[in-house]
Order: sequence, then C-alpha cells, then structure tokens
Amino acid sequence: MAGSVEPDEPVKLADWLRMATARLAPVSDTPRLDAELLAAHALAMSREAMLLALPRLVAPPEGEALLARRLDHEPIAYITGTRDFWTLSLRVTPDVLVPRPDSETLIEAAIARFEGPEAPQQILDLGTGSGALLLAALDAWPQARGLGIDVSPAAVDVARENAARCGMADRAEFRLGNWGGGLAARFDLILCNPPYIAQDALLPREVHAHEPAGALFAGVDGLDAYRLLADQLGSLLAPGGVAIFEIGFDQAESAAALFLAAGFAVAPVRDLSGHTRALVVK
Ligand code: GLN
Repeated sequence: MAGSVEPDEPVKLADWLRMATARLAPVSDTPRLDAELLAAHALAMSREAMLLALPRLVAPPEGEALLARRLDHEPIAYITGTRDFWTLSLRVTPDVLVPRPDSETLIEAAIARFEGPEAPQQILDLGTGSGALLLAALDAWPQARGLGIDVSPAAVDVARENAARCGMADRAEFRLGNWGGGLAARFDLILCNPPYIAQDALLPREVHAHEPAGALFAGVDGLDAYRLLADQLGSLLAPGGVAIFEIGFDQAESAAALFLAAGFAVAPVRDLSGHTRALVVK
C-alpha cells in the first residue's frame, strides 16, 4: 500500500536502548546499564565496542526476548551467562549465586592480611559456588594452590569451567563436599561466603525467584552455617592461618560470638559502604 509505514524498518540501537531503559526502570536500579548489557550480549559484542559503534548499529532481533527475561526480574548475569568479579570474567548459571561486589571485600581483606613476602600457599574456599573467591585469591597469589568445596554438583561443574576459563585449572581443584567435613589437609587461608539469610526473610524478587536457595538460607536465624563452620575450623586452619567469612549486615556480633565461643580471635572487616561485611577469624 502506497504511503504505509514499512513494517520492518530497523530500529536504531540508540532508540532501542532508550525504550528498554524506560521499561526496565521499575525493575532495576541500573536500567540503562542492564539495557546495554542485554544488547551487547545479543550482538555478541563487548559493551565498550558496542557503545563506540552505537550510531551505526541497529537493535538486535533477540533484544526483545532478553528484555522480557529481565522484566521478569531474572538477574542480568544469568541472562548473559557471565559476571565480572575482582579481576576475572566468570561464567555463571542459575546453579550458583551471582558473585557480588560485596564479596570482593573478602579478597581485599585477605590481601591486607598477607602483605609483603608472606603469601598463602594453600587456600580453601568453602561453599565455592562459581569458584569466584578461590579463583580471585589464586589470581592474587600466582604461586598458591587452592581447593573449592560445594555441596552442589552443578556448582562444582561451573567452578571447574571457571578455573579453565581463567587459566587456573592446574592450581584450582573443585570437589563435592559438605563444608570442610572429611578434609585431611590444613590451609593458610580459608575463604567462605556461606548462606546467611534467615529462612523467613523477605528478599528482592530478583534474588528469591532466581538464585539458588541453598546458597542463601541458613536456618531460622541465618547462622546455621557459621555454627557448623565454627566447629570444623580448628581442624582446617594451618598454624598462623586465617579464615575470612562473609556475613550479613546485622550479623557482626552474632556470628563473631560463635567463633569466639569456639576459641578463635575475631576481627571485623568493613565494606566500602561502612558495613561490617566480613570477619577475619584465627
Ligand atoms: N549477599 C547475598 C544477598 O544479599 C546473600 C549471600 C549469602 O547468603 N551468602 O542476597
């Protein structure tokens, strides 16, 4: 029909990003970034390369389907399958918790503890998930070796894939296990981001509906994992070794009390927003 609008007129990517940002605003704290990450994923480009070429690009046809998933509160990292953590680009699936910037506090604390010539040789990551903490620590100490334990076989698979992806498969071993139960070795550095949320706590839909419950919830008070870990820790730490645990924003005293009662010294670590985010235990 003469004069009708072409139905398949390509949408400019810049216009698609504006539209997607507006639709994502009620769902996400970072709607523009999310829209860019979805578009870059659909175009199989880095976000940087996509933005540099923005005026010449049209919206990818898959964009709408990816946007629909994000509008259903699915975390961006599960949609794109990757997440940056510390110096690493990691693969993530719904079988593992999405690595969070908060957890980089544990790596900073470990580096502060092992300053100078002293370096940890043997590193353990309990509840390793994607392997993020162990692989970040191994990246910081190229001579160190590490073991990551998780109770989920699917998580162990993801962590192994990440070790290979980061070129650390020769130094990082991942095994199925129940925290440190049955381990005969001792470690200079133990990293652990256990589940620490009370079982009836209300979580954002993004977390609650999409992330693995086993990585989040730990009994009525959220402290069950720390109780068990306080019991196991004495048989896992090498002389002079330290363990660094992530904790919930309101658990500095309750979690510390469990480790103090088990005979350890405990020091709090604050994150960038000033919350106590981790405990150094020795
Ligand atoms: N930090 C996560 C959250 O707030 C919880 C992670 C955990 O329980 N270890 O959703």
